[in-house]
Amino acid sequence: MSNLESQADIGIIGGSGLYSMSGFDAQDEVRLETPFGEPSDAYIVGTLEGKRVAFLARHGRGHRISPSELNFRANIHGMKQLGVERILSVSAVGSLKEEHKPLDFVIPDQFFDRTRGRISTFFGGGVVAHIAFADPICPQLADLMEKSCAAAGVTGKKGGTYLCMEGPAFSTRAESNVYRQWGMDIIGMTNLQEAKLAREAEICYVTLAMVTDYDCWHEGHDAVTIDEIISNLLKNAENAQKTVREAVKNMPKSRTCECGSALKHALLTSKDAIPQAAKDRLKLLIGKYL
Ligand SMILES: [Zn+2]
Repeated sequence: MSNLESQADIGIIGGSGLYSMSGFDAQDEVRLETPFGEPSDAYIVGTLEGKRVAFLARHGRGHRISPSELNFRANIHGMKQLGVERILSVSAVGSLKEEHKPLDFVIPDQFFDRTRGRISTFFGGGVVAHIAFADPICPQLADLMEKSCAAAGVTGKKGGTYLCMEGPAFSTRAESNVYRQWGMDIIGMTNLQEAKLAREAEICYVTLAMVTDYDCWHEGHDAVTIDEIISNLLKNAENAQKTVREAVKNMPKSRTCECGSALKHALLTSKDAIPQAAKDRLKLLIGKYL
């Protein structure tokens, strides 16, 4: 495990429509095992804009793994093994507000959980930790992402709430209208678990949410053709590549946020009470605190 450290500084997780990143130099496929099982696919590790970057296709190449089946822990642990300190997560979402139009990008600052029973912590099994999650997105990366959208010529709005639903079916109209009454901005199926686990792994995390269409509340929803949706997915993927490339290029060298010490006051279990198996399983995450 240790010989893999520092292979990459920046992680990119690509969602629906973004299964690869163009422009990687010295590209290498790295397949990893983790104490939590297998990641979605091999990590594509290489150099982008002079920086060491690892790309992971969230649903696997070929889009094989549904949101409920994703091994979020393995995906984030793999990033940690590679030495990643920042994750840029790209996701297709539906819009719950008129103002978020198809082809807009949103950089949410909040999540709301409507998933059911997904494993979204590395802890348990003898070790208890409660991370702070009031502000789930890294503020430094959110600022960077907003600037990167502007530099890429894409509408990118910072702030808003990402409602994370279980899926895989989309919402009923009743659900969609309730989410709107709650003031939610966008709806997706994956990013909340990633954000939690990244925080536990002391990795900065930001979501670049690409609006594909309006959710079913919108009167224009049923008029949208499959061709239009696919065309939006492709256009969004192209814009996301430009935006992510800008973000990688302008990534500040050091972290000014507190993500890197998220576990400092979170571990509640006394050191001598932690079972050896748990210490082994969590070595990469909590080793420095033991
Ligand atoms: Zn951070």
